[in-house]
This record gives sequence, C-alpha cells and structure tokens, in this order.
Amino acid sequence: MACNSSDQELQAQDQKINKFLQNVNHKILVMSGKGGVGKSTVATNLAVFLSNQGYKVGLLDVDVHGPSIAGLLGLTGLRLNTDGDQFQPYQYNDNLKVISIQGLLNQPDDPLIWRGPVKIGIIRQFLADVNWGALDFLIIDSPPGTGDEPLTVAQTVTDCQAVIVTTPQEIALADVRKSIQFCKKVNMPVLGIIENMSGFVCPSCGNMHAIFKSGGGEKTAADYNLPFLGQLPIDPNVVTAGDAGRSIDTLTSHTKESMQHIVEQFLQKLPTKQKGVEKTMKIAIPIVQGKLCTHFGHCEQFAIITIADGKIVKHETLTPPPHAPGVIPNWVADHGCTDIIVGGMGEAAQAILQQRGVKVSCGAPSDTPENLVAVYLRGELVDSGNTCDHEHGDHEHGHGCGGH
Ligand code: ADP
Repeated sequence: MACNSSDQELQAQDQKINKFLQNVNHKILVMSGKGGVGKSTVATNLAVFLSNQGYKVGLLDVDVHGPSIAGLLGLTGLRLNTDGDQFQPYQYNDNLKVISIQGLLNQPDDPLIWRGPVKIGIIRQFLADVNWGALDFLIIDSPPGTGDEPLTVAQTVTDCQAVIVTTPQEIALADVRKSIQFCKKVNMPVLGIIENMSGFVCPSCGNMHAIFKSGGGEKTAADYNLPFLGQLPIDPNVVTAGDAGRSIDTLTSHTKESMQHIVEQFLQKLPTKQKGVEKTMKIAIPIVQGKLCTHFGHCEQFAIITIADGKIVKHETLTPPPHAPGVIPNWVADHGCTDIIVGGMGEAAQAILQQRGVKVSCGAPSDTPENLVAVYLRGELVDSGNTCDHEHGDHEHGHGCGGH
C-alpha cells in the first residue's frame, strides 16, 4: 500500500477522487472531541438507518488506529478484496457498502503504526480506488480529535459536512468546542451535534433515568448557533448489540426510537438536494389476490417494490405478522420501506408511519402493484375515495386517510 508521491500520480489520484465525489450527494464526516463517546456507534447506525430507508450509503472508516466499524457490523476478519485496481467494499445490505482499514490487517488486533503521510495516502486511496458506485451518502468515521485524518478529509472532500458526537460531561464538551473551531478553520459546515449517553435505560424496568445532568450537547449547539440533532441514552443493549456486530435497528428499546429521531432530524437539516443520484425507493402495497387490498390492517400480503433510477429493480411479496395495534406499520418501516400506497388507513397507523419516515399515499384503487407504482411514479395517483372496507373499533385501519 504505497503512498503516492509524484505530482503526476497525485494529480491522477485527484481526478479519480473528484470523479467519485461528483457521484455522491452528501458527504458527512462524523467527528468527536474525545474517544469513547460513541462516535463510531453513531456513524455506523446513521449509515444503517439511512440505508434501511432506501438511500444508497457508503460507510468509510478512516480511524486508522482504532477502526471499530467492521466489528460493530459483524464484519471482523473479512479481508478487503481487490477487483483489478479497485477495492471491493463489503456489501452490508442492498444499500450499504462499507470500507474499513481493518480489512487490510492480517490479524484484526494488529496495531497500525503509521505516520501522517501514510495515513493521508490510505484515506485518499479509499476515496480514489474503491468501487463505491453512486451514493446518496458517504459517511466517514474519523478518529477523535482534529488530527491528520479529519484534516485530510476536510481538504480532500471539500463539500463535506460534519456531525459532531459528544457526551454530556463538560470534559467532553470542552473538546467539542475545539472540533467546532476546527470546522470553522477548514470551512466545513457543521450539520449538527448529537449527545450520546444522556441518561440510562434500566435493563430491568426499561425506563430512562437521568443519572447525570444531560443537555450539555444541546446547550453547546445553541451557544454556537448549530442544530442539535438529538440524544441517545446509555443503554447496555447498545454494547451487547455492538459487540455482537448488530446495529441499534435490531433493538426493541427506547434507544432505537431515539436513533430514528436523530436520523429524521439529520435528514431535515440537509441542504436542499443538489445534483446527484436519484433516491432509491421501496414502496409497500397491501395486497389480496394480486391486487391492492383496501383493508390495510388485515391484508394477506404486502408487495414491496424497490425502485432505482425510476425503474422497478426488485419485487418481493411478503406476509406481514398478525395484526395488532402498531405492528404492521412498524413492520413496514422495519423493512426499509420509504413509501406506502393504500386504499384507506387510520390516523394511528399513519402517525406511526410518518414518524418512521415512510410517506403515506391514500385513496388508491384496487389495482395491481405494478400499475399503482407506475401511476405513483408519474405523480398521477388520484385519491379514488377508496376506503378501508371493514368496520373496526381501533384507529389503525379506520376509514379513509387523514380526513379523506
Ligand atoms: P468512539 O468511536 O467515540 O470511540 P464507540 O462508538 O467505539 O466510541 O463506543 C465506545 C463504546 O461505548 C462501545 O463499547 C459502544 O458499544 C459503547 N456505546 C456507545 N454508545 C453507547 C450508548 N448509547 N449506550 C451504551 N454504550 C454505548
């Protein structure tokens, strides 16, 4: 893994890097002032949650001395493969590609004893020579502090934006202020601050306890006029999941909701979409005998249709779990659906879906999923006045949609 040195080589590498970056809509550097505040946990889960929503995401671990992304995603021990002169990223799921320095180590526990120029070289190589493809998001996990790695990213990925992770204690916040100043100096906008480990989720009762004063992250954000993206509690399940290579998405705790909220805030704070790849969509449609079932809560199956670049690339038919309040809307969101087309739906189900970032379109006629998707993509889905055709006492699958 040589560090390129000649001007010509550097120029050629710059060209490759720029070509790749042109195909990435949003570049995000996840930073922290201190180590151990949960920066890699947040970066990893941000990437996983975004990919579950149908975005194409690349997750790049540039924490050369303490790479933890591979472990957090259960990819420890996997070696990075090359295809021609390009590295092949790990494909964590349909939408998430991952590169970690750990994939270059003979043993996962081997330390890397590299000086600045070598580190800079490898980061540039991960931007130039990886088969990332077009991405909605490139999430870069940098080591704590303001050293070579974040500086290289700031200088190479010139339209990168920072997300800063902190814990509530003053000792961590003092270093966050340094990170904010760093971002100012290198001209990198800060998209927001996340406070991790703010309060404790009790493993016995599942309730949250404020074991030390939280809110320092929010106050620091306010002091610097920066967006605050939310808090994640201290949750022993996060450690267990992380150690087992599972994301927060697999938890059933309050922490998963908090992460979801952070992702929603994060998406809201993004600048209006510039040019770039079209978002991948995953559209859910409740069906019975191959056509839309107006009875959302009790349909036989769901058609789940994935769209990329305006075309259907995958068509799945899945059986939902048995009906109970809130179960099916959450099941739809858990499958990474970005949109749902229904005949009618009650307000409670709509509220859950909207909270989980799934766009609800009501009033669709009883037609095949393919026809409905084609009409939907043309923006011509008209509310037919179709409603849920079954009387129920709860609000989950009532008549019509939000006042239709
Ligand atoms: P950093 O990247 O800032 O060094 P990590 O993301 O590697 O921090 O997290 C350090 C440790 O803290 C890991 O064991 C991780 O599982 C744990 N951790 C992170 N966030 C939480 C949380 N909200 N609750 C409990 N443990 C957490």
